[in-house]
Amino acid sequence: QEQVVGLVEVLDDGLGRSLAEEEVVLARLLANQIASAIEAAHLTEVTRRYMVEATTLNSIGQVITSSLDLHQTLSIIADHAHWLLDVEAASVILRDEEGDALWFGAAAGEGADFVRGQRLANGQGIVNWVVQHGEPQMVPDASQDPRWFAGWDKETGFVTRSVLCVPLRTKGQTIGAIEALNKASGVFDEKDQTLLTSIAASAAIAIENARLYQELRHRAGSLEETVARRTRELQAERDRTQAILEAVGEAVIVTDLRGRIQYLNPAAVALTGFSYEEVAGQSSRVWQQGQEASEPFAPELAVLGMTQTQGTEVVSRRKDGTLYDALMTVAPLFDSQEQGQLIGHVCVQRDITPIKEAERLKDQFVSNVSHELRTPLSIITLLGGNLDMLYERLPDEKRRKMIQDIREHAQVLDDLIGDILEISRIEGGRVSMDREPVYLMRLAIEEVEKQRPLAQKKSQALQVTGARRLAVWGNREQLRLVVRNLLNNAIKYTPRQGRITCEGTILRAESATSGWPGSEALGAGRWAALRVIDTGIGISPEDLPNVYDRFYRVKSEGNVSGTGLGLSIAKELIEAHNGLIAAASIPGQGSTFAIYLPLQEE
Ligand code: ADP
Repeated sequence: QEQVVGLVEVLDDGLGRSLAEEEVVLARLLANQIASAIEAAHLTEVTRRYMVEATTLNSIGQVITSSLDLHQTLSIIADHAHWLLDVEAASVILRDEEGDALWFGAAAGEGADFVRGQRLANGQGIVNWVVQHGEPQMVPDASQDPRWFAGWDKETGFVTRSVLCVPLRTKGQTIGAIEALNKASGVFDEKDQTLLTSIAASAAIAIENARLYQELRHRAGSLEETVARRTRELQAERDRTQAILEAVGEAVIVTDLRGRIQYLNPAAVALTGFSYEEVAGQSSRVWQQGQEASEPFAPELAVLGMTQTQGTEVVSRRKDGTLYDALMTVAPLFDSQEQGQLIGHVCVQRDITPIKEAERLKDQFVSNVSHELRTPLSIITLLGGNLDMLYERLPDEKRRKMIQDIREHAQVLDDLIGDILEISRIEGGRVSMDREPVYLMRLAIEEVEKQRPLAQKKSQALQVTGARRLAVWGNREQLRLVVRNLLNNAIKYTPRQGRITCEGTILRAESATSGWPGSEALGAGRWAALRVIDTGIGISPEDLPNVYDRFYRVKSEGNVSGTGLGLSIAKELIEAHNGLIAAASIPGQGSTFAIYLPLQEE
């Protein structure tokens, strides 16, 4: 179908010359060529439009699948709008998070670099109107439209006339808009609007997807970080707890609900002698092997579902069979995750054997002292009474004997009270530091004579040897107490007919002298040495190191009375004199107690 699309006008030069034939032909040819060129151009345009429409959805579909990165998605949309609509500038505008301002997510074409990332204040521009109303706008000349925001025209050098703006809608909400701009006015038609609307439909989904993905990634990232942080925290907490458990002095044993051992700290290993490997998973009754389970122990309590902390004193057994006293606290262990469910028990044991031992010794001491006091007192009372009533009737000799006995027992009382006073002075840190020259041998002779009646009663041979003058710098009464205690012990712990020798000498340091226990440990210089040798019951090697402990007494067969104070006082006093006390003994044969004091050179 032929159509007149235009004219080719050939004009003469006005000089009256008519057109030549070939000039007319040329003009016709030219007209034909122009016509076909116009037709070709028109066809091309139609084809392009057609192609564009056919490929739009496909292209945008590709946008959706090609990227889940929001930034990239927005750029692709802007590029497509720019290219498909063949406009000079296109941009994607989004509502920001708070929804009160718009920002340019992406832009393509002229001025794009400037516009990208810019924000539009509330109400600015045609795009704001579109986003608010959710309807497209096609404006032929923006300069005539009061809504147009021309704020950036100067910066971009882009003076807009034609505006086509369509909303981006998803799930019934407007999330932004796509805007296409041209410097020429009135360039957009219905077709353009349809095209941009269809781009917007796909773009909205693409943006939504990218946003969801971004959110997901953010969540996953923060979740990952949360998990990592929590793991680190838990680890640190575990390390901390572990460090505390490792360092704590008390034995900590963790059992499960059935009383099976789950954990032992190093203190528990040290206390019980069991390694974790030996008892892991076993009943905590291993602590009671061979013992009557008189005390409630962790497993029993656990089985009862004990949910409160309980403390009790128990006697437990070590791996080597020895017993120990322990103050035991059993606390329920709850799972912090599962609503505080009971999952086991924590058993803390403190070794109180030394405290128990001290308590036992003190109790023993109190009963010993009362006995020690009562015996001589009742004898004195009895003898005194008899003397009073029978004085006239008793022969002189008998009376003298009774008075002597009273004096002896009063001396025993005096000695005992002396011991007790001395120990309380020592306990109170009030040991007298009054010093004077003391002749040890003289003192020994005096004490031997004082004790002689006692030895005679047991038919013991008591002698004192070593005529040397042994001068020391010290407290006479304290040293007298020491010598008296040593002599008294020798007499007490030696059976009848035994022999007791008190001997003094001067020893040089650095040469162990046989028969003088402890002499090998003496420091430089000369020492005044005094030893008391007996042929008594002796002391076993296990007991020997303990005899200096306060209240410590060896359980002897003969049931010899005493308080366990004598040697502990002796040791304290000798050490207060910078001296040394030591002993050697063979059970059944006898003992030697020796004291060494720095010699006072004359
Ligand atoms: P006490 O004699 O009052 O019991 P001591 O402190 O003097 O207290 O002595 C402690 C323990 O050492 C005594 O109970 C005794 O078992 C033992 N002991 C001390 N001296 C001798 C000794 N010469 N022979 C045997 N055992 C001794």
